[in-house]
Amino acid sequence: MTRAHNFNAGPAALPTEVLEKAQKELTNFNNTGMSVMELSHRSADYEEVHNNAAALMKELMNIPDDYEVLFLQGGASLQFSMLPMNFLPEKAPGNYVLTGSWSEKALKEAEAMGPTKVGGSAKETNYTYIPAFDSLDMDNDDAYVHITSNNTIFGTQWQDFDYDWKAPLFADMSSDILSRPIPVERFSVIYAGAQKNLGPSGVTTVIIKKSLIENEKSGVPTVLKYSTHSKANSLYHTPPTFAIYMLNNVLEWIKANGGAEGMEKRNKQKSDTIYAAIDESSGFYTGHAEKDSRSRMNVTFTLPSEDLTKAFLTEAKENGFIGLNGHRSVGGCRASIYNAVTQESCDALASFMKKFHESNR
Ligand code: PMP
Repeated sequence: MTRAHNFNAGPAALPTEVLEKAQKELTNFNNTGMSVMELSHRSADYEEVHNNAAALMKELMNIPDDYEVLFLQGGASLQFSMLPMNFLPEKAPGNYVLTGSWSEKALKEAEAMGPTKVGGSAKETNYTYIPAFDSLDMDNDDAYVHITSNNTIFGTQWQDFDYDWKAPLFADMSSDILSRPIPVERFSVIYAGAQKNLGPSGVTTVIIKKSLIENEKSGVPTVLKYSTHSKANSLYHTPPTFAIYMLNNVLEWIKANGGAEGMEKRNKQKSDTIYAAIDESSGFYTGHAEKDSRSRMNVTFTLPSEDLTKAFLTEAKENGFIGLNGHRSVGGCRASIYNAVTQESCDALASFMKKFHESNR
């Protein structure tokens, strides 16, 4: 069987080469006579994978020396709680910019732990745009600012971060990490579940400024403190070894394909292909996101009626296009085109969209 055109929102497509490498090494990793899953997490063979993955994250994202790269469990969702648990003081608010359901979830966790404020929101339009910098309410006294760099469900994305954020900037980059170069030095924390751009589910990457870790609140349980994982090189307890092995292989693949710049080039071309199919359809397909806030990772669109949307999704599936259903809170369709989704799949989808339009005029 050939590989499907996989537009799943996450877990999502992985590079075929990475899967084939894992398959080849599955029963005998690095001449150990066992799979990487069967190795001790304290063994030299595993530690090499673990350390290489962290080194590659640093290299590919151009992470300065005063940051740590941690591999944690609990998904991006645990970071929603862990960040305020460790860094939200009693007096200063955590400042949340709401650009979608995941930002709302992050805010909800912080509300349970201390003062918060909303420094910007696009909720009134059902999150069709990213608020303009000059509309944001930022203050030197905020404990931190939290943003979601790419909004998986709504298909919007911060186009750049070139702004005076005043307080330490925390970003959920779950759905666009390593899809483009970003200025890491502007952020104090970047976190992302691996299951969209970096590998399978089970590991969450946290990039955190070392000086911030020194300011952790007291009274936090050991496994929920960043310092615990930082001191132990993310080996305080058993890490998700297979997920980290896959992450390492995906990072090697990103490196071989031009790094963050290479990914940006691929992702621009891929997203342009599908947005062109929307924009050239004379209104048959309508994008959910405003044009200047469009995501290069999740392309969201609707058709003129519920019936046409249903027919589109059914026919798409019959033609081998998987995962195009929009999230239930937005409806319509969504093509998630993370790093590993190929230009070929995007070309095939764009021509399917044209054909479907022609036969349903
Ligand atoms: N943030 C964003 C932007 C997401 O897209 C998701 C998952 N779809 C999450 C957070 C939640 O991630 P996890 O399932 O790893 O907790």
